Amino acid sequence: MRIAVAKGDGIGPEIMDATLSIIGATGAPLDFEVVDMGKTWYEKGHSSGMTPEAKNTIEQLGVLLKGPMETPKGKGMKSINVTARKMWSTYANKRVFKSLNGVETVFSKAGIPIDITMVRENIEDTYGGIEHMLTEDVALCRRFITRPGSIQVHKYTFEMARKKGAKKVTCGHKANIMKITDGLFLECFYEVAKDYPEIKASDIIVDDLAMKLVSRPNDFEVIVLPNLQGDILSDLCAGLVGGLGFAPSANIGDNVCIFEAVHGSAPDIAGKNIANPTALLISSCMMLRHLGMTHEAIAIENSLYNTLQQGYHTIDFGIGKDKQLNTTEFSQQIIKNLQ
Ligand code: ATP
Ligand code: MG
Repeated sequence: MRIAVAKGDGIGPEIMDATLSIIGATGAPLDFEVVDMGKTWYEKGHSSGMTPEAKNTIEQLGVLLKGPMETPKGKGMKSINVTARKMWSTYANKRVFKSLNGVETVFSKAGIPIDITMVRENIEDTYGGIEHMLTEDVALCRRFITRPGSIQVHKYTFEMARKKGAKKVTCGHKANIMKITDGLFLECFYEVAKDYPEIKASDIIVDDLAMKLVSRPNDFEVIVLPNLQGDILSDLCAGLVGGLGFAPSANIGDNVCIFEAVHGSAPDIAGKNIANPTALLISSCMMLRHLGMTHEAIAIENSLYNTLQQGYHTIDFGIGKDKQLNTTEFSQQIIKNLQ
């Protein structure tokens, strides 16, 4: 089976090479088709951040394992990550935040394991990029939420929750202030929830959700959120399980699915071979399961868990220097533990 691979910018190539070598070591029957996508191609004049050949390959293969792509803040180029999600209408972004043995956090020290799945609506909201200056001193941004878009993401959420045997789904929103847009998102949530009577559906205002996530994270199992709120709270959830190095994601569309780490291109540590490849590696396990290669996914996950439990770590987590490894060494240790 062939899949498309875009290595990405910044730490992208380092964590991608680590991930591909681990997948390769499982003997998974996969061929990687590396495509031209990222900042370099944007700068070469491809406004979508990819060549037409890359676009064709991804559409033909339907699965993209993707490294992070750099997005400058403020003025300048548009986000390639957002362009890709829109181009292929990957309407749901599933992000899994799970405690891992060997990764110490405030909650692990208190003996509280965390297992939260967040679904971020992925193509609507303020990410339409409809922003302009109204006058010299007034900037205006429009946000859009649609009924079909909301229904689609809520259906995905409840189906996923049912498959994983979750007992409850919570919808985060700010419908007390954004009564029409978030109001519609919330209305659609309860409409879809009716078809899943075995799952307890409830909603919570997003600021209250932020507070409860850090004080009582175990009150939540599956959470669905509009795009921007989902972006912010997923980084918060990453913090609960040890940081951005541990947060994987899947962008789900009808024709193309993109698997990528939640974190960005981390330019501050790029090129040093010290980045943590775990988030991309767990994303690749989500991809393997999506492709039906469950056996290989489980093998990688077990090997990763063993490696972490043995105390091996990259510079962004863990204690002490003696078991601190660089990106390549960390991936080699995981490969060793596969055997
Ligand atoms: P984006 O705009 O693409 O979301 P960002 O500004 O949110 O990017 P990130 O690239 O996500 O920034 O990084 C945030 C911080 O987390 C940085 O200090 C970075 O070094 C660190 N970080 C991110 N990913 C990793 C990783 N895989 N391993 C180690 N540190 C990481
Ligand atoms: Mg970010």
